[in-house]
Amino acid sequence: MPLVDHHNRHIDYLRVSVTDRCNLSCVYCKPRGKVRLLDHQGILRYEEILRLVGRAASLGISHVRVTGGEPLVRRGILPFIGRLCGIPGISDVSLTTNGVLLSGMAEGLRAAGITRLNISLDSLRPERFAEITGSDAWAAVWRGIEKAETCGFHPIKINMVPVKGVNDDEIADFARLTVERDLHVRFIEFMPIGAHDRWHSDACVPADEVRAVIEREFGPLEAAASHGVGPSRNHRVPGGKGVIGFISPITKHFCSTCRRLRLTADGKIRPCLLSDTEIDVKSPLRAGCEDGELERLLKFALEIKPERHFIAESGDQCFTRTMSKIGG
Ligand code: SAM
Repeated sequence: MPLVDHHNRHIDYLRVSVTDRCNLSCVYCKPRGKVRLLDHQGILRYEEILRLVGRAASLGISHVRVTGGEPLVRRGILPFIGRLCGIPGISDVSLTTNGVLLSGMAEGLRAAGITRLNISLDSLRPERFAEITGSDAWAAVWRGIEKAETCGFHPIKINMVPVKGVNDDEIADFARLTVERDLHVRFIEFMPIGAHDRWHSDACVPADEVRAVIEREFGPLEAAASHGVGPSRNHRVPGGKGVIGFISPITKHFCSTCRRLRLTADGKIRPCLLSDTEIDVKSPLRAGCEDGELERLLKFALEIKPERHFIAESGDQCFTRTMSKIGG
């Protein structure tokens, strides 16, 4: 039985952030030198996450995405994922990664039970990648993508956030990847999260604009089927092997079909990415609460899950927690 919230949405998807740490410092996500990291005590232990996911699964959550920070930097992540995949009721576990450590871990991830991967990549140019991320790991990420292809992950989704004046001149290059390869390239609108010094609504490239750029280069896109439970509107270049997806939280929000809850690395259930309201589960977990209390808190998260976000109305306001701290 799926969970149903107060706005009649079926909630079956939990995003679990396992760390706020990341081996990249993307300018719009984890501004360099400005982010205070959680200490060991501050983050949920794997046992605590597994217990909470078990309760969520008993209520109707069936899909889990592991994210961060960068999930692959947390020690013990592979056995943890293996145990997550074994929780009764959890039928799908996927992972979001920046790909830096992927080539060495792809086989382990497959063995642990992951079949679907999202890889974030904001530039196909190594020097620009270094400017955006503060790291020269572009080649490592690319090796990770190629390794994921040979290991048989499917789909492999490449997430790109076009930001005006930063990387929006690479939109057609990213789309071109889908012509020859069975990759899903998804363009995600830049959101007012974390990057106070960067965020301005003009920096966001609306999905319609992204599509127009692609269609100028490749002609009209065809509709393509959606995969998974996400909000991506999928298309393809006629004859192309891969898929081009548009995720438009800003210009065409998909709140009425949102199926998600989030668990932050510091043990807060966050019912909506774009609302700072959170419910603490770390304290009750550490106080030795009963399973029933965790279930009550999960149900409460559904009660207070907002009907929609109000970004359009809030002008150039920016959320305080960075995406690396929420779990992207
Ligand atoms: N480290 C993993 C990764 O790179 O995929 C998981 C976490 S990362 C925070 C998840 C995604 O959030 C990345 O694709 C990043 O581009 C995206 N992101 C971060 N800040 C964002 C913002 N303000 N608007 C849109 N996407 C953002």
